[in-house]
Amino acid sequence: MRAQYKLGITLGDWCDENGEYGDKLMEEWYDPDRTVDGVTRGTKYRALWRCSSGCTVDGEKFTWEARVSNRTRTKRRAGCPGCSGHVPTDANNLRKWCQDNGEYGQKLAAEWAEPDVNMKDVTPASAKKLTWRCSSGCTVDGEPFTWVSTASHRTSTNRTGCPGCGGHGRYVQLTDQNNLLKWCQDNGEYGQKLIEEWAEPDVNMKDVTPGTNKKHVWRCSSGCTVDGEPFTWESTLNSRTCSIRTGCPGCGGHGPSAQLTDQNNLLKWCQDNKEYGQKLIEEWAEPDVNMKDVMPGTNKKHLWRCSSGCTVDGEQFTWEAIVDSRTCSDRCGCPGCSPAAPIDLKKRLGKVAR
Ligand SMILES: [Zn+2]
Ligand SMILES: [Zn+2]
Ligand SMILES: [Zn+2]
Ligand SMILES: [Zn+2]
Repeated sequence: MRAQYKLGITLGDWCDENGEYGDKLMEEWYDPDRTVDGVTRGTKYRALWRCSSGCTVDGEKFTWEARVSNRTRTKRRAGCPGCSGHVPTDANNLRKWCQDNGEYGQKLAAEWAEPDVNMKDVTPASAKKLTWRCSSGCTVDGEPFTWVSTASHRTSTNRTGCPGCGGHGRYVQLTDQNNLLKWCQDNGEYGQKLIEEWAEPDVNMKDVTPGTNKKHVWRCSSGCTVDGEPFTWESTLNSRTCSIRTGCPGCGGHGPSAQLTDQNNLLKWCQDNKEYGQKLIEEWAEPDVNMKDVMPGTNKKHLWRCSSGCTVDGEQFTWEAIVDSRTCSDRCGCPGCSPAAPIDLKKRLGKVAR
């Protein structure tokens, strides 16, 4: 039987038979109550060990408790938890990490807000939740803003900063500086417009962060109405405060988000566009769709009827065209009236000899 399988032999004998690793265990044995010859190599006895690879705590060699069996087993042998970074040592602790990490390290040290925990007693990779206090001036009701984050989050390469200091991420938190009301106050005319357009009776602008994806209700401040009532719509805060600011979808535009209002509908558009608008009203050939219920900028196709004399078999010529193509700057007209009409169509419309 090979030596490492003999559970009954003493630790001393086992170490003698296990080369360098055995020597290391002998060196690390630091138990005050037993000797290596007083325990078997397979015992579950928790012995005291002392790191032989340089770990220190407060200048003293690092000691820890581990079962003898865990150190002599074949696989996943338990080593020094200081060497593996699982417990803080003089060379590996959060205070040291801060000292070694320039300005950012100083900031972390300044933000430490755990009254009863010493930074020295936490590893930089620790997953323990710790309290931090913003060092850049964030407050809540006038008190310094604090938040909870692990040491690991704060020291990793994707370092997380104060969630009150703003940004559009999902970790963002509400502070006296980071709320929608403050954002509006800081954003001149546009901010004033948002304040005017806020249409949430039960939510204070002070209680929402400017960069969230939450939807809120807004009321047009430029006069859009639906059946005479102020036009309201839903939109995320993010879409209203980010660099591509979206406005009232009733105020027009050709986008997919445009909405129907008393001001933004095809009939109104025609009434506002004089002769050309009158022509469109005349040419509208949808018996079952009211022009009032169609947006001027839609990409939907509708039926039109020529008002300039094109006929087919004595009937007014009709064709399909996207509404937007008739109201946009190109203002497409009846294809039969076009000088560029194909000869086939001209023949069909009786404009040239068949
Ligand atoms: Zn060690
Ligand atoms: Zn902050
Ligand atoms: Zn509007
Ligand atoms: Zn025509």
